[in-house]
Amino acid sequence: MHRAAYAALGIDAVYLAFDVPPDRLRDAVRGAHALGARQLSVSLPHKEAVIPLLDDVDETARRIGAVNTIVRDGDRFVGHNTDWLGAVQALERERGLAGARAVVLGAGGAARGVVFGLLQRGAHVTVLNRTPARAATLARELGAHGSGDLGAIGKARFDVLVNTTSAGLRSDESPVPAAAIPADALVMDAVYEPERTRLLRDAEACGARTIGGKWMLVLQAAEQFRLWTGREAPVDVMATAFDRVSPRG
Ligand code: NAP
Repeated sequence: MHRAAYAALGIDAVYLAFDVPPDRLRDAVRGAHALGARQLSVSLPHKEAVIPLLDDVDETARRIGAVNTIVRDGDRFVGHNTDWLGAVQALERERGLAGARAVVLGAGGAARGVVFGLLQRGAHVTVLNRTPARAATLARELGAHGSGDLGAIGKARFDVLVNTTSAGLRSDESPVPAAAIPADALVMDAVYEPERTRLLRDAEACGARTIGGKWMLVLQAAEQFRLWTGREAPVDVMATAFDRVSPRG
């Protein structure tokens, strides 16, 4: 997506992917700094661990507790978070979020951004997770309204459901039973591989509207592009680049 955006706007830059094991994260960040890298994306599982390795972290990323974007400012590496904005912008393509009753599944790094974004937009947020203690901690730290285990979905009343668990990632698993999804809900899956997860197929079968993880990914990348270049991102170009490489569900 980033390379396609650079090419479309004539920016002389290249975006490369590196698989960094947790015990080499410090070396990787130092090495990128020494090499003069201008910008970095940070992916799973490094989004929280990278924070103490940076020169500064902006207020939003600090509140979320996760960094997915590093921008070079002179000689300093500064951390940001664009996941939350990608998530709310993807949802806002379909509906307004103020006053919405939202359930977020999961309590990891992605959940932190999604819960923060929903609360920013004025939604009423409940966090459900396989390990309920993690949901309770996240809800308390970010100010969500309630928490519980995944089974509590059966009793929850909601207009918006966002899956941020890894259930469904390269598998045909769903974190919740199809019967728990009301027909008038909007369901978004952060998982983008495959693009049409079991959760989204179940939600469609129930009559619910759905959004794939593609849009959260594309829109968070568009915000990264804007932070890095100071220019508006060519979102359609980036979405088309995603489609070229994404395996279909
Ligand atoms: P993470 O920090 O490792 O958190 C994983 C979460 O998934 C935890 O809440 C974990 O529950 C839960 N989980 C794992 N396996 C499960 C299963 N079989 N059944 C139910 N729950 C399960 O990961 P993350 O960074 O938050 O990422 C989560 C997913 O979101 C990944 O698939 C990632 O690709 C996707 N994501 C997408 C975007 C996007 O832009 N579209 C951005 C970020 C992340 P426990 O606490 O019980 O272990």
